[in-house]
Amino acid sequence: MENIVVVGAGQAGASLVARLRAKGFTGSVTLLGEEPQAPYQRPPLSKGYLLGEMPLERLLLRAASFYEEQGIALKTGTRVSAIDRAAKTVRLADGTALPYDALALTTGSRPRMLAPVIGGDLAGLYPVRGLADVDAMAAEFREGARALIVGGGYIGLEAAAVASRLGLKVTLLEAAPRILQRVASPETSAWFRALHLARGVDLREGMGLSKLLGRDGRVCGAELADGSVIEADFAIIGIGIHPDVALADAAGIALDNGIAVDAHGRTSDPSVYAAGDCASFPYRGHRIRLESVQNAIDQAEAVADAMLGDETPYVPKPWFWSDQYDVKLQIAGLNTGYDRVVVRPGAREGTQSVWYFHADTLLAVDAMNDPRAYMQAKRWIEAGISPAPEAVADPANELKTLV
Ligand code: NAP
Repeated sequence: MENIVVVGAGQAGASLVARLRAKGFTGSVTLLGEEPQAPYQRPPLSKGYLLGEMPLERLLLRAASFYEEQGIALKTGTRVSAIDRAAKTVRLADGTALPYDALALTTGSRPRMLAPVIGGDLAGLYPVRGLADVDAMAAEFREGARALIVGGGYIGLEAAAVASRLGLKVTLLEAAPRILQRVASPETSAWFRALHLARGVDLREGMGLSKLLGRDGRVCGAELADGSVIEADFAIIGIGIHPDVALADAAGIALDNGIAVDAHGRTSDPSVYAAGDCASFPYRGHRIRLESVQNAIDQAEAVADAMLGDETPYVPKPWFWSDQYDVKLQIAGLNTGYDRVVVRPGAREGTQSVWYFHADTLLAVDAMNDPRAYMQAKRWIEAGISPAPEAVADPANELKTLV
């Protein structure tokens, strides 16, 4: 193996190339990214960066000099147009063909947008995916401006928290019966609903969008499923993402809710790997995709290891977090398949943890401003240990005495 090419310079791509060098790989490493910046962190885009509290330099994952020092050819502003698997080359938009011995696709995901027939092509609509999206919407964040947020997932809720803190009037629409329905229990949704309502967000759940209304080609409001009309100066669209599988698909690589990989990140072509948001992998008898920074880093490192001959299978240790107002939500584990939830009040007011079980097995925990509950739960989940649900629910019981 002499020549490794990585397509996609986000968190996964950056982690992969760094790991190759850390593990002593001395061959050629090329990291190709379409955006103009060196790899940067995405999570702050809907939090500190949107709030204006985090400068661009702090977003960068590594100083620009890192790539040079490590002998990594970082090519930003570079679009890959095709993969030729027979010739083992990637073709760039300018026609250049780059050869590879092993190729990794860390292409991430693209935000879903609203269809043009309901006004999705109006000006004044913003996804929150890349730096350019957030920079483009910054001028809209004026005190008193009316922000319409479509979607009550983490993007929508984090953006609502920032907009509300900056003095905007926020209306948030969630088509499903409750916010965070895809990812959390009704108990966690209720906690965040109360938080946003207390901060003056006009939160409307179970409320579809009929169409966006425009004036001179720019959004000025929306008609909702119940026929009511709201006015807005701009809209943030946070209605989920699609894994970016276009290159893999065009090259005939197998897909299954993303680029299908094995436990080593290998696709249906043994010379081609994938990691991060774009990749679906085997997990407990199913195939899942994990849209998280932790997965992007750990899976990419597992791919680097596999490229260098270490066949340790990738086992995710999922954790997530979200910041909204003064609340830090920390999530350990994956709650898929839960059939029981217990709520544990925290030691202080405004703190709580929500514990997900399948029968008596602890699957996951959402901890709101309760880092102790989070840390304990994470340790137990990773060790396969389950405390009794009833005991967890009683705040008089010290957590660490339960097992
Ligand atoms: P998401 O978690 O899929 O949430 C989108 C929400 O919008 C869903 O509840 C969806 O409901 C709803 N929705 C869809 N179409 C709608 C419509 N026409 N009108 C109103 N609501 C609609 O995705 P996201 O919030 O856009 O986030 C994108 C990605 O970034 C996700 O992977 C997310 O986990 C990640 N992210 C993570 C964090 C974090 O971990 N802190 C922060 C920001 C972003 P249905 O499910 O019923 O379609």
